[in-house]
Amino acid sequence: MTFRSGRHFLQVPGPSNVPDRVLRAMAAPTIDHRGPEFRELAREVLDGLAGVVGTTQPVVVYPASGTGAWEAALANTLSPGDRVLMAETGHFATVWKQVALQLGLEPIFLPGDWRRGVDAAAVETRLAEDGAGTIKAVCIVHNETSTGVTSDVPAVRSAMDAAGHPALLLVDTISSLASIDYRHDEWGVDVTIGASQKGLMLPPGLSLNAVSAKALAAHEAARLPRNYWSWTPIIAANRSGVFPYTPPTNLLFGLREALRMVAAEGLPQVISRHARHAEATRAAVRAWGLELLCANPAEYSASVTAVLMPDGHDAGHLLDLVLDRFDMALGIGLGRLAGKAFRIGHLGHFNDLSLVGTLGGVEMGLELANVPHKSGGVQAAMAHLAGA
Ligand SMILES: *Cc1c(COP(=O)(O)O)cnc(C)c1O
Repeated sequence: MTFRSGRHFLQVPGPSNVPDRVLRAMAAPTIDHRGPEFRELAREVLDGLAGVVGTTQPVVVYPASGTGAWEAALANTLSPGDRVLMAETGHFATVWKQVALQLGLEPIFLPGDWRRGVDAAAVETRLAEDGAGTIKAVCIVHNETSTGVTSDVPAVRSAMDAAGHPALLLVDTISSLASIDYRHDEWGVDVTIGASQKGLMLPPGLSLNAVSAKALAAHEAARLPRNYWSWTPIIAANRSGVFPYTPPTNLLFGLREALRMVAAEGLPQVISRHARHAEATRAAVRAWGLELLCANPAEYSASVTAVLMPDGHDAGHLLDLVLDRFDMALGIGLGRLAGKAFRIGHLGHFNDLSLVGTLGGVEMGLELANVPHKSGGVQAAMAHLAGA
């Protein structure tokens, strides 16, 4: 391999760049996970996470990727054969539906075109038809990382209330936590699913469920097999700052540091920073004359922008070139978007010049790959950044 000087640009929409402060915090001797020092660490990270999720209710942390937290949310609240209403917003919603199927649930999949968020009216219609209450949960992805589309969670909550339906609301916030406004308690969410490696600026390996009182009640009655994922022993142990198994101590050191960084910047500022970088990215895409995958401006994602390739041009080729020439990783098109779209991650540990560098790499890549486009995307983004 050729030697690469300088920093690698990791601009996939997760895993995101890990700040040096977080890396240093993790490079510490592992401590006794039952001792007083650990208990203080556990309390600080669980409180900090609750703040980011917007809850005063329990947050359960798992040593697992986001996929584990998906499974945990379903296995803790549902019983074999239960019907769950899911919405086809893109690749991640489709994979979560597979998880539900594998667990022996019966998903009802509201169809989508992978360019829009959850259709709250369709949720209301489907729930209103279910007078017998056979649907036990509505499961949605807040920010569909494969398409760059953010769904309106409060609108889905209102649709459920309008239908007068008792289903639980489960929300995947894996690529929106600490990047896009989200409020577990205020929005009436029952289980929030999150992970460490996107907005939270950590390496992969941690994920979470935030749990409402209603979800805890459903948990008591739920009959899907669960052991490792079970909330009960974890919440009980967490009360005294410990875990019922050996926790990932060094990732928790990193989490503590990342949460301190979010607190120092201020969560509202973190959210508005992401929105501003997303706007500047879209200004670049428009100047290039390329098409955004997200078809509804009200649903543009603040953490990732997906761009459609012109017909006859392969996104994989563009991304290979950008990696080879500029040492930058961009997100490939996932599932049915393979080759047809690419994704620019602008989340987590990120600033104006990271964005200008990222867009510069994309613009040079478009030129080198002979993708039809206009120049001036970086200029448009800089004008936006310098002005706003
Ligand atoms: C990344 C991601 C996942 C998958 O998480 P893993 O940590 O890879 O298991 C699920 N949902 C969304 C929305 C994601 O962005």
